[in-house]
Parts: sequence; C-alpha cells; structure tokens
Amino acid sequence: MQRYFASLLDAEHIQLTKDDEHHLLHVMRMKKDDEIEAVANDKLYLCKIKSVNPLDIYIVHELKSDVELPVDVTLLFALTKGDKIDLVVQKATELGVKNIALIQSERTVVKYDNKDIDKKIQRFQKIMKEASEQSHRLVVPNLIGIYNLKQLPKEAFSDLNYIAYEKEAGDTKEAFADVTKNKSISILVGPEGGFSEEEVNNLVEQGFIRTSLGKRILRAETAAIYALSVLGYLLEK
Ligand code: SAH
Repeated sequence: MQRYFASLLDAEHIQLTKDDEHHLLHVMRMKKDDEIEAVANDKLYLCKIKSVNPLDIYIVHELKSDVELPVDVTLLFALTKGDKIDLVVQKATELGVKNIALIQSERTVVKYDNKDIDKKIQRFQKIMKEASEQSHRLVVPNLIGIYNLKQLPKEAFSDLNYIAYEKEAGDTKEAFADVTKNKSISILVGPEGGFSEEEVNNLVEQGFIRTSLGKRILRAETAAIYALSVLGYLLEK
C-alpha cells in the first residue's frame, strides 16, 4: 500500500505535503474510498480518502509497526566527492540510521560554500524522506549538520563511539563486542584519503574506539554501508 509521511490535522484526519498531495492525486490517481498508510508523529495509520476535491483523508485506525533499530545510531560521514553522499544518505536511511552528520577533516577535498549548504541540506532531506517511505520507517533521520572533525558537537557523540580505521588490526566482531540494545552508537567513516594518525589519536582521546571493517580497504561509501549493516545485524539478532 502507498505510504506517506504526513502530519495530523486533528485526531481523525491527516494532511499531506503539497508534493505528496500531487503524487497521490496525479501520479497514483487515487479516488474516494482508496486507502493509504500514513506516518504522523512516529505512528503508523491506515487512512481512507473521504473526498479528493478538496482532499480529505481520515484515519481508520492505528497500525502496529516495529521497524526501527532498538537504539539510536548516528553516522558521521566525511564529505566525499560527487554524488556519493546522496548514495550514503539514502542507504543509511534504509539501514535504519537515526542521525547523520557530515564531517570535514584534514583530507576531505570537498568544501561546501555557504551558499550551497541550504540547497544541499534540502536535497539530503528529500532523499531521506523518500528512502524512509520506501523502507517503511516511522521516522525520517535527522541531518544534524556539517562539522569540522576538530570540533565535533555533543550531538555527534553516543554511548559508544566508533571510528572506522583501515589500519586497525583485529576484526570487526571484536571491536563491536560492546554493541547492545541499550547503548546508542556513533560510527565515523573517513574521506577517500582516510584519517591522519593525529586525527585518530585525538578521537581516541575523546573516547572513540578504533574498528576495522575487515581485511580489504573499502571505499568510504562502502565502508559506511557495511558498518551500518553489521550494526543492524548485531542489534536485531
Ligand atoms: N586512503 C586510504 C583508504 C581510505 S578508505 C587508503 O587508501 O589506505 C575511506 C574510509 O573508509 C576510511 O577513512 C575508513 O573510515 C573507512 N574504511 C575503508 N576500509 C576500511 C577497513 N577495512 N576498516 C576500517 N575502515 C575502513
């Protein structure tokens, strides 16, 4: 069934965004009495169209859904070139991430101009909303901001903080041994050129745990997707 993120108009009615109204009426060509699913205030509802002109959608009843990870997972992803961030934002959303922050570090080659930032953020937000709908999530992840690695805000930190470091010996399972269903997690993935040793040491001083993501060097986007897949497996098994 078609699903939208919506807002509650009152206890019995929901309201779609203008874009989604257009989608429902002109792409899906829905009619009176058609049903949709809508997520509003982190809850899922079965809804029915009472009229299309004006569009009036009422709640039939709440539906049970258990699709969110048991703890909040935050992805800290270094700014990479081209549309790799689009891909990572989309896949991270599908994999259940709660927060995403983009990171500038010593070796990030991409710099966002102030005038670009708003546009980029809007674009990432659209990708996250569509990916959340597609993967039937109850929340759209938060894009918490773009930060310099030297000045990570407290929102970037969780109960457990990991840094994916390709020079780390040992295996992923060992490094993630403390992952449990009641500790929030941050995972930091570096840019194409990796992190400098100094950066890694500073992060370790701030409580980050170095983790290997296996024996092969992965591209940054693969590393993010792999790390989130492993965390999803550990948290949901
Ligand atoms: N420039 C480095 C590789 C950087 S890969 C080199 O060529 O050696 C980009 C990022 O992906 C890294 O900063 C790290 O966070 C992550 N990454 C890639 N492979 C990894 C691995 N095997 N273990 C841990 N992290 C990895």
